[in-house]
Amino acid sequence: MLDIVTNTPAETEAAGQQFGERLAKGDLVLLEGDLGAGKTTFVRGLTRGVGSSAHVASPTFQLVRVYLGRVQIAHVDLYRLEVGAELVDLGLEELLDQGAVVVEWGDRMDSPEAALLSFEHLGGDRRRLRLMRDLQR
Ligand code: ADP
Ligand code: MG
Repeated sequence: MLDIVTNTPAETEAAGQQFGERLAKGDLVLLEGDLGAGKTTFVRGLTRGVGSSAHVASPTFQLVRVYLGRVQIAHVDLYRLEVGAELVDLGLEELLDQGAVVVEWGDRMDSPEAALLSFEHLGGDRRRLRLMRDLQR
């Protein structure tokens, strides 16, 4: 299982790229960790891993962004989601029919079948990335 410490954003992106290379349609990936822990940086690499050259920005003010590649990636950020709000509005099932879905603040949704990655700020530029639960397939 992945458990690494990265020392630069590029290392976190590289880890994301490797993870993205494994993704297939229907995969749900939840990312947990505080602001600045590296979740969006990881997604930037992850989209490269599916062959997308799109610019990945933080979707904090936008619930979902879609990137096209070998597998479509729906990038979701639940940071601003009201506690207890309906995830139905997200159209999660439809997005999973179309590709993979990666969710920042994914611990706010409850999905025992999803992969779960945790990001921890260790001070300075050091970040710990841990795969708490792998893809279930
Ligand atoms: P999050 O989406 O978890 O809020 P971001 O990926 O948006 O986090 O931001 C991480 C910030 O930390 C960026 O400014 C990035 O440049 C910086 N950073 C420094 N070191 C690292 C590292 N090892 N991995 C990821 N980001 C890092
Ligand atoms: Mg983010």
